Amino acid sequence: MRTKILPVGERALRKAKRILLSGGVVAFPTETVYGLGADARSDEAVGSIYRIKGRPQDNPLIVHVHAGFDLESLVYDVPYAKALREAFLPGPLTLVYRSRGAVSPAVSCGLDTLAVRVPSHAGAQQFLRFVDIPVAAPSANRSKHVSPVTARHVYEDLAGRVPLILDGGACTGGIESTVCDVTGEYPVILRQGLITQEQIASVAGRCGVYLPKEGEKVRSPGMKYKHYAPACKTKLFPPDALAQAAACFAEYERSGARVLALCEHTASAAFPPEKTLDLGGTAEEFAAKLYTLLRQAEDRCDVLVAVEPALRGGVMDGVLNRLRKACGEGK
Ligand code: AMP
Ligand code: MG
Repeated sequence: MRTKILPVGERALRKAKRILLSGGVVAFPTETVYGLGADARSDEAVGSIYRIKGRPQDNPLIVHVHAGFDLESLVYDVPYAKALREAFLPGPLTLVYRSRGAVSPAVSCGLDTLAVRVPSHAGAQQFLRFVDIPVAAPSANRSKHVSPVTARHVYEDLAGRVPLILDGGACTGGIESTVCDVTGEYPVILRQGLITQEQIASVAGRCGVYLPKEGEKVRSPGMKYKHYAPACKTKLFPPDALAQAAACFAEYERSGARVLALCEHTASAAFPPEKTLDLGGTAEEFAAKLYTLLRQAEDRCDVLVAVEPALRGGVMDGVLNRLRKACGEGK
């Protein structure tokens, strides 16, 4: 199969709709990462997403809809979820509702809930409005690899496996959406992201963060899987271990390995400038640059020595979650 990359526009959208309505898949941009979309109502189409990505069969998908889509046709709503939608949507927040069973059971892997997201990216909105169906979409990468934030990244992972990649430029958010369960008395974050616990609590009065306990059946099955990993070896250091990170870097260099460092701007003086991947200075910048830099690392080095940025709280919860999954112990 030949994989076309087309800018979001009339011709590309018509092609995308034809593909989706005949059971195929289309990659599309969002403000977080690129998605691999299929008709959420079709068992076969949803099944092909899992096959193409090599995704485990018990890792549910998020349904993407445009801002005017009839949400109540898909899920049972609750009042505080409406308040969250008004505050944050369209945007990088996925809400997990009780499902009405209107889409293929393969989307939620048989769970009685459904995750729904309304992306704010103009190209994503255009695409979703044009097709006007619920589009099931995980990130458009091979399972466990770093999520794609450009059309080129999607191409690198899925060329020959998808017919069309809609190109909407580089994603500005850079990490996957916050996933928040709204089936209980108050919202509970299942995956951290750009919409923070503090922001959700400020609207809903309260917001929990779910941390799976040993031996318990996880509420967000995808979270148990390894994710976001670059192909190179990785070593991750806490922010107060910059000297140890620099020593580790030097030791790998002496051994003849190609080594790069990944760190925030203020730590970058500890490493040779031409061998440093600079994450910048704010939590939003770290999020926006992380996946692009991880993909550069796997292309350019054998070992990546990463140092956690020092900032904590807010968007950093999501950034550190992704960085640790990509570079941390047990990778
Ligand atoms: P991805 O699209 O690869 O970013 O993964 C979507 C993630 O959303 C999954 O890994 C799950 O953790 C979460 N998710 C999707 N649907 C549900 C659901 N019905 N209940 C709980 N978590 C979900
Ligand atoms: Mg993913």
